[in-house]
Amino acid sequence: MQSTKPARSNRRRLAAVVTAASLMLAAPAGVAPAMASANFPSPNGQTNISSILTYADVQKELQKLEQTSRFNVDVFTLAEAGTSVNTSEQGRDLYVATVGTGPEDVWLQGRIHGNEPYGTESLLTLLKDLGSNGSPDYNLLREKYTFHIIPMYNPDGSEENIRQTILWDDLTGSPEPGENGREQRIDLNRDWTEAGFAAKESLAFYEYWTMVKPDFGVDIHHQGLKQQWETGDDVTLSLGISLAPGGPTLPGLADGAYDVLTRQMMVHVFDELSKYGSINIDRYQVGNGLEIDIKGGVVSAMMLGLDYQGLNPEGHSNPVVFLETSGNTSDGSLGQKARGKSVRQNVLALEELLIGMATGEIQQEDPERWDEIPHQPTTGYQTDYAGIVPVQ
Ligand SMILES: [Zn+2]
Repeated sequence: MQSTKPARSNRRRLAAVVTAASLMLAAPAGVAPAMASANFPSPNGQTNISSILTYADVQKELQKLEQTSRFNVDVFTLAEAGTSVNTSEQGRDLYVATVGTGPEDVWLQGRIHGNEPYGTESLLTLLKDLGSNGSPDYNLLREKYTFHIIPMYNPDGSEENIRQTILWDDLTGSPEPGENGREQRIDLNRDWTEAGFAAKESLAFYEYWTMVKPDFGVDIHHQGLKQQWETGDDVTLSLGISLAPGGPTLPGLADGAYDVLTRQMMVHVFDELSKYGSINIDRYQVGNGLEIDIKGGVVSAMMLGLDYQGLNPEGHSNPVVFLETSGNTSDGSLGQKARGKSVRQNVLALEELLIGMATGEIQQEDPERWDEIPHQPTTGYQTDYAGIVPVQ
């Protein structure tokens, strides 16, 4: 347990740094397409977000799954889990659902960016399957793993349909203004840093992570519409590793094990999902041949074994990868018309990744085949610690 004071006192300084960062895990700048996708509906016109799950919908669905699942699904808040900080900035409870009885823990999170909605639906769909599916594959998953599913990491941003969370003043019940007098929006996926956590959600989930010490994880995002390098085909799903394989950071972690295993995971997902004609995969890149290599992203900080204020004294770390479904809820993007397809490809990717890990198939994949997944030739790394680092 710890006081929230240190994090709060870091907030103003840190918020300025985060706001200045232009890095994204979402759409690379300048890739908006002129043509509609052959696979996805036209992005023209206003995006209708009326069918996207709200926070209340998620609470209701979690409750339903807890009550109706054949296998034990446990739904709880971080307050119930016992983290010292345990709500969003605006005071919403933060939810986790667990399922499975296995000795290894798996961390699955969605909608850390509030305007990237289908991670929520994908994880609720997976939770339903893990709670009810009696097939040998699902029996294996429940026997081998305990899943920690976070369907809506950022409830405040989700309710506002914005990427970030807004720093909140509990006393006035309104945004806490920054030094410039304006509201402070924090990208929660740049907020797990050695200097501390600007937003409550970050420290709350970090504390929970130090309690769980997962073995591996997956993080689900959306990106803008994107075309494949060379072919120009529309991409429906990009596979991401937030510390670039072979880059400045990842090969040095866990004696190189994460550099190998994260690539094996993505190679396996690429092979299995490429069997579906409606899914078109490439590698996540930030544009202009730059690979992402950020340290403040949640999944990066997990791989780096972030030890904030002695909460992770033994330096636990774990590999994590991320998925980027094309289209988000910004105007001119895809919206709900591609919803079923977007959710489906995320669920398929999660299933293949989890079953591949459980059976050991992934650990047999050739990591070098990461190079075969379509991508622009790498010219450098976009970092949050040294600007752009060219390939040596
Ligand atoms: Zn995102």
